[in-house]
Amino acid sequence: DIPVITIDGPTASGKGTLASSVAQRLGWHQLDSGLLYRATALAAQRQGVAADDEAGVARVASALNLRFDGEAVLLDGEDVATALRQEAVGSMASRISAHPAVRGALQALQLGFRRLPGLVCDGRDMGTVIFPGAPLKVFLTASPAMRAERRYKQLISKGIPATLADLRADLEARDERDRNRAVAPLKPADDALLLDNSGQTIDQSVDQVLDWWAQ
Ligand code: C5P
Repeated sequence: DIPVITIDGPTASGKGTLASSVAQRLGWHQLDSGLLYRATALAAQRQGVAADDEAGVARVASALNLRFDGEAVLLDGEDVATALRQEAVGSMASRISAHPAVRGALQALQLGFRRLPGLVCDGRDMGTVIFPGAPLKVFLTASPAMRAERRYKQLISKGIPATLADLRADLEARDERDRNRAVAPLKPADDALLLDNSGQTIDQSVDQVLDWWAQ
């Protein structure tokens, strides 16, 4: 049985940073599932498929030509790592992710990331839908103010323009949509361990997860 650690939580809670650090410390594979939704959104946008065209976006998701190569994310051979981080893409990702057909189309792709020696994955429904049997499930939380500030710093450091107020409004709207959608709503799995990282450094959060795994 290939072990899986799932890390779910709201936008900009630090899931990605935590997941990649834990994966690195364990020497395991990593899946940032939000990137699959973002890549689908970008591909749909480029093909002129509207966010509310469920069947059309699901077709785009099934045909997604995506490859990971170190830091690069290749969509049809082009590195779109920076484009995928844009707020407009994240916002469209949030809209298309409410369609059951789109989620279904991305399911097999996600399961394929489970490879030896193990997988650390992050998203919204890793513990509830994609890997319900995972032996360790973490649900991350942090205050909206803290999350907006982190996302702000992240974007500015990459040279992507942003304002704090817009980011906070956008992340709260996105959380609202993720929590209230009919399929795979954002919520902790019944057996998830809750981690509020508002007052923690990254290292403290990583150590907490590794402690839980060692138990
Ligand atoms: O985590 P990230 O912000 O990159 O995800 C972009 C959007 O994709 C989220 O706002 C969420 O609506 C959606 N998503 C999802 N299920 C996942 C990962 C992301 O619905 N497992």
